[in-house]
Amino acid sequence: MKKAILMLVGVGLSVLTAVAGESRVFALATTRDVTPALTTRVIAYLETHSGAVVRPTEFMPVESGQDIEAIGRAAAQRLAADEIGVLVLGQFGVDQPQGVCLPHEQFGILNLSRLGEGVDEDRLVRRAGQDGLRVLAMLVGLSPCPFPLCVLTGYEKTEDLDRMSGNFCPPCLDRFTRRAREAHLQMKPVGADEPTQDESTADDDVSASVD
Ligand SMILES: [Zn+2]
Repeated sequence: MKKAILMLVGVGLSVLTAVAGESRVFALATTRDVTPALTTRVIAYLETHSGAVVRPTEFMPVESGQDIEAIGRAAAQRLAADEIGVLVLGQFGVDQPQGVCLPHEQFGILNLSRLGEGVDEDRLVRRAGQDGLRVLAMLVGLSPCPFPLCVLTGYEKTEDLDRMSGNFCPPCLDRFTRRAREAHLQMKPVGADEPTQDESTADDDVSASVD
């Protein structure tokens, strides 16, 4: 009996420590039609360009034809105590929107069927990474950026992403880092990851100034 009570106290303490210890994270949930390799590449992209830790979680169950906003909401309900919000990735069909982000409900969801239409995996990783960065930024309350060489600038068509920067402009990276610190988000040690090869084209200048 005493042992059971001690174990409960232990669980309670570890939850408290996780929050008080300033180690919250972004969660990344995927549906079963996303390969682990693709998930790993998108997480690497997000962590490299945001500096924040992104934690992969268990697969999201999805009913056929389920609305992506409802899927995102269901993912948010599964958030752990130390997770600040969730980014959901899945193949939801070309008839559904490219993505939905509701920061006040702690989720953003991206439709890889739309992002990956007619492009190879490298291009898909970059697009999902770009839109994923936009979701992470919104989850910590950042607004869009007027600077065209920034991933937070406005765009209209999916293909526009390919001409856009793959990362935050320096002021947005500063704002993101400050908001992340205020939200007690766990950050990667500086220089832990080499930049990926995905940012080889239009954003070279920006990456250089960010680094
Ligand atoms: Zn910016």
